[in-house]
Amino acid sequence: MSGAQCLSALASALATGSVQIVDLTQMLSEDTPLLILPEPFGQTAAFSREEISRYDERGVAWHWNNFTVGEHTGTHFDAPVHWVTGKDLADNSVDRVEVGNFVAAAVVLDFSRECRDNPDFLLTSEHIRSWEAEHGAIPEGSWVLFRSDWSKNTGDAYTNRQPDGAHTPGPAADAIRYLLDRGIRGFGTETIGTDAGQAHLLDPAYPAHTLLHGAGRMGLQCLENLDRLPATGTILICPPLKIRDGSGSPLRVLALIPS
Ligand code: MN
Repeated sequence: MSGAQCLSALASALATGSVQIVDLTQMLSEDTPLLILPEPFGQTAAFSREEISRYDERGVAWHWNNFTVGEHTGTHFDAPVHWVTGKDLADNSVDRVEVGNFVAAAVVLDFSRECRDNPDFLLTSEHIRSWEAEHGAIPEGSWVLFRSDWSKNTGDAYTNRQPDGAHTPGPAADAIRYLLDRGIRGFGTETIGTDAGQAHLLDPAYPAHTLLHGAGRMGLQCLENLDRLPATGTILICPPLKIRDGSGSPLRVLALIPS
């Protein structure tokens, strides 16, 4: 099929609804949950806004706001420059990451049952191999989305902060190494980071950040609606804002799936 025929088929599939669009984005608001680091580290800013005008004397016919938000607040994109291991790579910031990373195939690894029973569940290469035995090898150039159903938690249950830190699922180092061997573009999660809440205890610490970004790969976090996606066959659309030298960006994440 030529490119023109392919796009024409996609246009009619979108028009007829045989290809459906799923929004994977958390609501961005003053209530969006935040990652909180221990002292003495700096903190990401919550989303906040100030009204410029709302059809009033400040602007009779128009409504608009200014807003403030951290690069890593809410559903957001992690560029390789976010982590020290990716700091010297070429094209490592959101403005320079190759745009092919923003529209690409995705697979969904469903380990929601395991995460329901264990908030500290670690995804291992063994889990990925068992997934591949059922669904086929993860294609090179794919995004890998880790379905935990964690996004169904709200409030304190979502961040799940305990006296010894957050307890949320994530990948083990060997899982990330395995995915890098598969040539993935990036790794996406429903939790507040691409790493588990207790990932500071792993070797290396924060393996998703350390290994993915060191290899020039990307991260997505605070995704939702992964339970609406098939295991294979999704097209993911995830362009971050084009912030000069930006380490990440809040964004809208969409999935194209067959109905
Ligand atoms: Mn981040």
